Amino acid sequence: MGRIYNFSAGPAVLPEEVLKSAAEEMLDYRGTGMSVMEMSHRSKAYGQIIAEAEADLRDLLGIPDNYKVLFLQGGASQQFAMIPMNLMKNKSADYIITGQWAKKAAQEAEKYGKVNRIASSEDKTYSYIPDCSDLPISEDADYVYICENNTIYGTKYKELPNTKGKTLVADVSSCFLSEPMDVAKYGIVYGGVQKNIGPAGTVIVIIREDLITEDVLPGTPTMLTYKIHADAESLYNTPPAYGIYICGKVFKWLKGMGGLEVMKERNEKKAKLLYDFLDQSRLFKGTVVPKDRSLMNVPFVTGDADLDAKFVRESKAAGFENLKGHRTVGGMRASIYNAMPYEGVEALVAFMKKFEEENL
Ligand SMILES: *Cc1c(COP(=O)(O)O)cnc(C)c1O
Repeated sequence: MGRIYNFSAGPAVLPEEVLKSAAEEMLDYRGTGMSVMEMSHRSKAYGQIIAEAEADLRDLLGIPDNYKVLFLQGGASQQFAMIPMNLMKNKSADYIITGQWAKKAAQEAEKYGKVNRIASSEDKTYSYIPDCSDLPISEDADYVYICENNTIYGTKYKELPNTKGKTLVADVSSCFLSEPMDVAKYGIVYGGVQKNIGPAGTVIVIIREDLITEDVLPGTPTMLTYKIHADAESLYNTPPAYGIYICGKVFKWLKGMGGLEVMKERNEKKAKLLYDFLDQSRLFKGTVVPKDRSLMNVPFVTGDADLDAKFVRESKAAGFENLKGHRTVGGMRASIYNAMPYEGVEALVAFMKKFEEENL
């Protein structure tokens, strides 16, 4: 059986070239006689893999010199605790609640200090991004936290919040490297890589150097201290070595594609195809306010739960995998990350048209 179109929200589709190249190097990585999986993380060969991955990521995003890049474990969810443990000097932080992931991050931070929920879109099932131009930012807030692309609800900040001088912390798991970003606007940018970059098990944290201190909350585990990992160049203990290797290949693939400006254009073109279809469809409709639509995650419904279920069933049989919406929202969701080809979205739209004709 060949490869299918995989619209999973994560772990998600990866570039075929990357998978092929990893397969070629599986038994013997460049004359070392072993797989990267079997290699010491202190070896010369591995040292080169992680250093090159970091250099390529810095290149892609234009990361300023006063930012560290950390390759860590524990997924994005572990950062929900690590961020307050390391940043809550005043034991206070502002959170903007735009979906499940921001909500979970706020709940976790509450274990360590005061959490001020300064805006939320929960009133309309997180179908929009609140106006963040003049929020009641707390005087004593150590940081302002956002989830920049909401994987489940399909919204994305098109403009960053006005933090009134406070440090901005952003979870970019599901929009990482989908378009250029100005890292200098953030204190921390982080993401689990299994959405748009690599295999599950690695989380990338880009953190401004002045936020890396020994002054962390009492009881913070060594492994959850940014300074420990920053000082050791992500090699304090065994890192998620194979995952970092695959991320490195994806960074090279992105550079080969022409970089993040080109990816942005491709992603806009892909998303437009699907959104334009949804906007004129008499059966399907997108669930997000148009101005806040994500380029990566596209939720849609027919308005009839049975018909939704039929669509998911028939699409699966036709070779479109993982189109079922998140269990908390129902309906459908197409995740169209960097590695989803334009042809995949074209084929999906053609299938939706046919389904519409048959079921109206
Ligand atoms: C998937 C996801 C998470 C959780 O990631 P884990 O690596 O499973 O902890 C957090 N935030 C966002 C935006 C996500 O999409």
